Amino acid sequence: MKKLRIDNLDIDGRRVFVRVDFNVPLEGNRVADDTRIRAALPTLKLAQQRGASLILASHLGRPKGQPKPEYSLQPIAKHLGELLGREVRFADDCVGEGVRQQARGLSPGELLLLENLRFHAEEEKNESGFARALADLAERYVNDAFGAAHRAHASTTGMAAFFERPAAGLLMAKELEVLGQVLESPRAPLVLLLGGAKVKDKIPVLDNLVPRSQATLIGGAMAYTFLAAEGVAIGASLLDREHLAFAAELLRKARARGAEILLPQDHVVAPAPEAESEAQTTGSSAVPDGLAGCDIGPKTVAAFRQRLAGAGTIVWNGPMGIFERPRFADGTRAMAQAVADSQAFTVVGGGDSVRALEETGLASKVSHVSTGGGASLELLGGLTLPGVAALVDA
Ligand code: AMP
Repeated sequence: MKKLRIDNLDIDGRRVFVRVDFNVPLEGNRVADDTRIRAALPTLKLAQQRGASLILASHLGRPKGQPKPEYSLQPIAKHLGELLGREVRFADDCVGEGVRQQARGLSPGELLLLENLRFHAEEEKNESGFARALADLAERYVNDAFGAAHRAHASTTGMAAFFERPAAGLLMAKELEVLGQVLESPRAPLVLLLGGAKVKDKIPVLDNLVPRSQATLIGGAMAYTFLAAEGVAIGASLLDREHLAFAAELLRKARARGAEILLPQDHVVAPAPEAESEAQTTGSSAVPDGLAGCDIGPKTVAAFRQRLAGAGTIVWNGPMGIFERPRFADGTRAMAQAVADSQAFTVVGGGDSVRALEETGLASKVSHVSTGGGASLELLGGLTLPGVAALVDA
């Protein structure tokens, strides 16, 4: 999985197209969280030091192929300029003659941020004429957008074919190195901590990593599908009927080879997620009729914590409950603390788990915070990411 890196590419004095992931939350004209922008800075600074001129491109939100002012990248150009301490030019489109001229007019070290790639429907369709128009802007291509690498779009795959040596940026390279290490030679015991609502998104990871792990701890809404597969009463908790058979089979296979799967032993329940004031803790794994499991309970927290404490490697993705609501956030927060306290090599991916770590001020205590939720799940699931496959091997 080792790919050519930007530091081994001849970018000196060249026009370099860098696909970045600047899909950040905005509040009006202000960047509300610049984590993803900061994550791209090492690549941008390296390229500037080498005298490259930089053409930066990203998607932002889901404008569905139409220019929409609320999804403009203009506020990001300003924010990036402040972070770098120099002006970042802005192009009001990402293709076309005007943009080409702006790109060609850049001096060494200068930066030009293009308008939202998804203002053109051709981006997500990976349309070849659009990919060629993007490629036409630059002499070199670097992909640093790990968070978008699981999508086969014009800027992540199509345009790479027009370059001799499409390379990985430093962030992309780091993600591939760390996640590759977890896949290929994790320090044992490997313990998975999975939560969130959608079983479907976690199927590749469950299929690929459960057989290599010593323990899998399942919380969040997805736990109820696994409990139901065991015949435990789940009341009005979320059930993913479509994946019941998958859950039953996974439990059977894991236990047959002696791997531990820990499901919740108690819960914080309520008649509905909005009914926080009526929340109570169950004494056992069964959820009473008419109540829904909204968080893991204290016994489960203790059991999960104990299992995490002895891990050599921990992979965490997904919250343990409806952590957006304070009454149901304790389980997720306790797991964030347990992962941070662990001596293991710890990898956290997925927007919600990362947010929980940040809210508790613990992000710096984990070994690797992945910038790509979906992309990290697919990579750990053993799938080939189109945006990675498009880069040349090292
Ligand atoms: P996912 O995108 O699959 O990682 O799911 C994340 C979402 O799962 C979050 O918005 C949580 O609020 C939600 N979630 C976690 N636990 C539960 C639960 N017990 N019941 C309902 N929703 C949950």
